[in-house]
Amino acid sequence: MTATTTSPAVTRQHLLAAFDDILQPGRFKDYGPNGLQVEGKAEIRTLVSGVTASLALIEAAVAAGADALVVHHGLFWRGQDGRVTGWMKQRLAALLASGINLYAYHLPLDAHAELGNNAQLGARLGVQAERHFGEQDLGSVGPLDAPLAAEEWVSRVERVLGRTPTWVPGDGRPLRQIAWCTGGAQGYFEAAIAAGADAYVTGEISEPQAHYAREMGVAFIAAGHHATERYGVQALGAQVAGQLGLSHRFIDIDNPA
Ligand SMILES: [Zn+2]
Repeated sequence: MTATTTSPAVTRQHLLAAFDDILQPGRFKDYGPNGLQVEGKAEIRTLVSGVTASLALIEAAVAAGADALVVHHGLFWRGQDGRVTGWMKQRLAALLASGINLYAYHLPLDAHAELGNNAQLGARLGVQAERHFGEQDLGSVGPLDAPLAAEEWVSRVERVLGRTPTWVPGDGRPLRQIAWCTGGAQGYFEAAIAAGADAYVTGEISEPQAHYAREMGVAFIAAGHHATERYGVQALGAQVAGQLGLSHRFIDIDNPA
């Protein structure tokens, strides 16, 4: 890999400060540590971004000559038992052997008003947040330019994300207010209904939401956890790489979930 010779190097701490400065992780109560999760080499020229710190992404980052990897889903979550065995051993071994620094930002990356998963998804779907709802105000609600039938809205979601959503129609009303929250935010559906949504888009569905949709008349669209969370981390990577003069590449490891 010779592409890195022209990029200036920044220190591991400098890159951390640039991410933290934008995302302000101290403002969130999260399910895992935000920021530098695995320390690697001291100097960074090449940054790779991706959704989840899976072994496949780490190996792709090694192949791309990365000095740092920034992800939405890091390695460490509340409730893990802490043993370095199985998949955890493999991922950590690959990171430590390559010297790649792993940075992870979860809720701060969902919520950022411009680079965040929710803002980026909304922009692609043609809706802008007017209000927020749910835990730590992560959910967004905004109006459509013109009312749409639920089927038309679902086709738009499918076209934008390149993936067929799982969805449950509501009462057939034309959609005016759309609520959305990327990832595994099916638990916010009731809060989305209370916030005045005619339809709610998130990544995943669980059994109860199908009934709530039918009983409350609000359409529920599960557009894919991975598919809805691809955009924030690449916007963040591009922004910070541009700011610091790093080379940057987003690597998508497809996930059907
Ligand atoms: Zn997620």
